[in-house]
Amino acid sequence: MATIFTKIIKGEIPSDIVYRDEQVTAFRDIHPQAPTHVLIVPNKEIATVNDVTPEDEQLVGHMFTVARLIAEKEGVAESGYRLLVNCNRDANQEVFHLHMHLFGGRPLGPMLARR
Ligand code: AMP
Repeated sequence: MATIFTKIIKGEIPSDIVYRDEQVTAFRDIHPQAPTHVLIVPNKEIATVNDVTPEDEQLVGHMFTVARLIAEKEGVAESGYRLLVNCNRDANQEVFHLHMHLFGGRPLGPMLARR
């Protein structure tokens, strides 16, 4: 069954797409946690970081190039931003289609909540 992100990539579910090419699609998170909150998603379904293979290295590197372009486009490159990838249960991964979060537009605080 297609993931919700594949449905977005195919245009079957509405989304606010900010970038797309033959390898990745980037769209605004539906529940933004910062003024800029974009998800950078490979068009190919990869469930988690645990499923990334050496064949995916170019694609995963491309996700960073796209992150850089989006950060510039969103005006957060100089002020700064955070890239984050969750994997599985302890990281609260909700959507099992690899994606990189790009957060920016305000001071983001410490990397992890203190407990
Ligand atoms: P993660 O916890 O890393 O798996 O994050 C999944 C993210 O996908 C969450 O921040 C959700 O708000 C976001 N999300 C879920 N459904 C949609 C959707 N239809 N459009 C945009 N973002 C979504």
